[in-house]
Amino acid sequence: MGPVPPRTRRRGLPSTAARTARKLGEIRRAQLITTYGVGAMIAVENESFLVRGIDSWDISEAPFISEPRLAWQLGVAGFRMPPAPDTDSARDGVRAVRFPEMYSCPTCHQLQPFRKFNSPTGRAECSTCQESLVPSRFVMACTHGHLEDFPYWKWVHRGNRTESGGCGGQLTFQADGSTASLRAVQIGCSCGVEKVSLEGSFRRQALRELGIRCSGRRPWIKDAAAEVCQEPPRTLQRGSSSVWFPVMHSALSIPPWSQGIAKLVAPHYNDLKDEDAASIKVYVRIRKLLLHRPKYTDEDVVAEVERRRAAETVATEPVDDTEAAKRAGDYRRKLYEGEYRSLSKPHPEDAEEDQEFVCVPPVASIDALRTSLGLAQVMLVKRLREVRVLQSFRRVEEPSPADSQLRQAAISLEKPSWLPAFEVSGEGVFLRLDPERLRSWEEQPEQVARATRIRENHERLLSARAGDSDKQVPPSPATPRFLLLHALAHTLINEWSLDGGYPAASLRERLYSDEDMAGVLIYTATSDSAGSLGGVVAQGEPDRLAVSLRAALHRASWCSNDPLCMESQASGADSLNMAACHACLLLPETSCENNNILLDRATLIGTPEDQSIGFFHDALR
Ligand SMILES: [Zn+2]
Ligand SMILES: [Zn+2]
Ligand SMILES: [Zn+2]
Ligand SMILES: [Zn+2]
Ligand SMILES: [Zn+2]
Repeated sequence: MGPVPPRTRRRGLPSTAARTARKLGEIRRAQLITTYGVGAMIAVENESFLVRGIDSWDISEAPFISEPRLAWQLGVAGFRMPPAPDTDSARDGVRAVRFPEMYSCPTCHQLQPFRKFNSPTGRAECSTCQESLVPSRFVMACTHGHLEDFPYWKWVHRGNRTESGGCGGQLTFQADGSTASLRAVQIGCSCGVEKVSLEGSFRRQALRELGIRCSGRRPWIKDAAAEVCQEPPRTLQRGSSSVWFPVMHSALSIPPWSQGIAKLVAPHYNDLKDEDAASIKVYVRIRKLLLHRPKYTDEDVVAEVERRRAAETVATEPVDDTEAAKRAGDYRRKLYEGEYRSLSKPHPEDAEEDQEFVCVPPVASIDALRTSLGLAQVMLVKRLREVRVLQSFRRVEEPSPADSQLRQAAISLEKPSWLPAFEVSGEGVFLRLDPERLRSWEEQPEQVARATRIRENHERLLSARAGDSDKQVPPSPATPRFLLLHALAHTLINEWSLDGGYPAASLRERLYSDEDMAGVLIYTATSDSAGSLGGVVAQGEPDRLAVSLRAALHRASWCSNDPLCMESQASGADSLNMAACHACLLLPETSCENNNILLDRATLIGTPEDQSIGFFHDALR
C-alpha cells in the first residue's frame, strides 16, 4: 500500500481526524447506519471514536436516495447515503470525535484524559513509557441516550461530594489480565484513598448511590448544550451492544414510485422542487431528461414535481410530537398496506420501464398448496428495492415502540430535514394465507389463550417502558394470526438456509398482519451492486415450496430442547415467546424484523396434547 495522500486540513478538526477518516473508509456505507451510526463508538487500533451527528457531516457528495413513502412516515424531505470517504479527493464526509476521553497506560497505570499523556501526533502512546495507551473500557450512559466518561474519580473517592479531581491526586487503572472479572479491575488514586475494584459498578443503582448523576451530555453532537436529566446513569462496557441500538425504518419501493415518471423525476427532485413550471421545462430540456423516453412529456415532469411537492408539504409541515407520532403510525400502517397490495398483484417485467419492483405468480398451479397447506397465493418477487433509514438510536435498553420522545436520541442538534439511508436490492417470495381457513383457525380458544398470554406479557412490558410519560402505550401486535405468520417466516428461513445453502442471516422476513392482511415476504437483499445471492425466487416454485414447507413443518415439530421448549408457557428474556428457543425458531437478529419475540411453534403444528390446533396440522400426517 502506498503512502496516504496528503489531506486538506479542515476547520476545527484535530489532527487525529484524518487517521479516523482513513479507517472510516474501511467501513461500508451501510455500516454507517446499521453498526457505526451517529452516536456509536468505533474502535480504531488502540483508540476509540464517536460518530458525529449528521449536521457535521460533509454531504456535498452524498447521493440522494428517493423513497417518498418512507420520507412522509418519518417527516423528512428525503434521504442521503452516508458520504463515502474518498482518499483521492481527501474528503471524508462522516466526522468522528475522540471518545472516551479517559485512557490508561498499561505500564505506569496512569488513568487520565488522553491529552494529558502528551502522545506524539498520529499515535496513542504514553510519552513517559512509550507504551500504547488503552481507551477506557467503561463508559457511563443513561436511557435518554446521554453519554460520558466513566466517573473514575467519584467511583474511587466513594461518596466524596467535591468536584472530580478535588484531591489533586493522580488516578491509576490496574487490570489483572488473568481474569475478566470486574473485581480484577482496580482503580486507585495517589492521594492514598483505598483502591476500589469495579465490581458492582454495573448494578442499576450503583452510580446513583454514590451521588453520581447523569450530566445530560451528548458528545456526538457538536455544540450540544447539556440537558437536564433525572435518569440513573449506568455503567456500560464500551464495546457492548447496549451502548448503541440503531432505530431503523425501512420500506420497499413499489409502484408508482418505483417506476415510470416518479422514478425518472426522483433523482432530480431536489433540484426541481422549488422551481416553477417554466424552469422545470428548461431543466428537462437542458438535462435531456426525456431523451429515449417517448412516453413522457415535460408536462408530465411538471405534474410529477407538483404532485410530490403537495404530498411533501403535508408530511413535513411542523406538528407537535403527539401529532407527529400519530402520523408516523398511520404512515407506517399505510406503508405496509401499500406493499401488501403490490405484492398481491402481478407486476410483470416491462422492457420499456426501468423497474425496481417485479412480482409475478408462478407458472405452475398452486392448487396443491391451497388445498393441503392453506396458502391462498404465492408470488415470486423477482426484483425488489428496499431503503433502510437510521432515524435515531437508544442506549442501555433496546428500542421499544413505547419509548417516550425523551428516549429517542437525536442524530443532529436541530430536527433534521434528511436522514442517512442506504438502499439494497434483491428478490424474495411472498406467501398469503387462505383467509377463510385462517379465520376459523384463529378463533380456536387454545390459540386465543396462548396469544393472549404473550400479549399480556408484552403489553405489561410496553407500559412499564412508557413509564409515566404521556405517551399512549401502543397495543401489542400479538394475535394468533401474527404469531402464526411469524413462526411460518422463521421456520421457512431456517429450512431455506439449511436446504438452499443461504446463510440464515442473509434472509429476512417482512410480516403483513392485521384484519385485512395475512402475508409473509421472505427475501434477500444486499447493497452490493452484484445483487442478491439469487435463487430465492426458485424456492417459491409450487412443487419445491410444497416440499420445503413440509420439511420446515417437520423440523418445527421437534426441538432438541423438547419437551421443555414445547411445554414452555413463557420463554425468552421477557417471556414474550411460547414454544420457541435458540434450538428451533429463533433467527439471527438481522433476519427478524421483530427482535425474535412473539414466536410460538404451536401455531404451526399444535401441541403434543392437541395437534389439531396447529394451522398446518394436516400437512404433517
Ligand atoms: Zn505510562
Ligand atoms: Zn484522590
Ligand atoms: Zn441522562
Ligand atoms: Zn425450541
Ligand atoms: Zn422474526
